[in-house]
Amino acid sequence: MKFFLFALFFGALLPLKAAPLKIVAAENCYGEVAQQIAGPTAEVLSIMSNPNQDPHEFQSDAATARAVAQADIIIENGIGYDSWMEKLLGIPGKKSRLVIIIAELMHARKGDNPHLWYNPSTMPALAKKLAEVLNKPEAEAVFLESMKPLYEKIASLRTKTNGVKVTATEPVFNYMATALGLEILNEGYQQAIMNETEPTFQQTVAMEKSLLTKTARLLFNNIQASNASTTRLLTIAKKQDVPIIAVTETQPLTEKNYVTWMLSELEKIDRAL
Ligand SMILES: [Zn+2]
Repeated sequence: MKFFLFALFFGALLPLKAAPLKIVAAENCYGEVAQQIAGPTAEVLSIMSNPNQDPHEFQSDAATARAVAQADIIIENGIGYDSWMEKLLGIPGKKSRLVIIIAELMHARKGDNPHLWYNPSTMPALAKKLAEVLNKPEAEAVFLESMKPLYEKIASLRTKTNGVKVTATEPVFNYMATALGLEILNEGYQQAIMNETEPTFQQTVAMEKSLLTKTARLLFNNIQASNASTTRLLTIAKKQDVPIIAVTETQPLTEKNYVTWMLSELEKIDRAL
């Protein structure tokens, strides 16, 4: 009896096993960084994680809606990239939930290039925000340390890339291209592909000319957003010996983390120039 009372007393004092923190990230690169900051006990669900799908055409389903409604922290890119998430956030969820909008952290506005994770300053901003909210300054420090090889690679590659003219099928890589000092041609064409509209005749002519004359020294090919028009560009680039750099919107499942992903894309540029 004595023991029973003792057990009862201490049992009441022991906290119930805390429910794991639930984080839902619209894009898997943000989810991966969130897991690093929140730690292994947090349950992180990344909605867009299929590198074979065009994210600009993504439609959410009922399971996603449920996950968002049960989340403690939700991370979305914003500025129209994941507008499906805006709709899901209209469904009531946890009262205490926190919504982190990357575009707000980065002071990006509607109409800006939405591929914000290609800006090398974005993940540190997300890590900082999460570390503040979750009180994990050590995790932030570890993450920032892990970003160092990426910054070193950008700095060393820039000696080769600064001022070099390049073009792209779609603007996914352009923030990183800017960080490398690359001069980006044919942005109107790229925007049209991103928005799933036909580039104008003039945009197409200018784009093809940049490859035919080899004014563009590289062609960035977003393999997640292709159509007949971009396929034609690849044919021209191959014929003209303009190196094609394959890039993706979604972090490939084969990559260990965001840093290795970015480094492998930068490595391709390094080899091509
Ligand atoms: Zn895109």
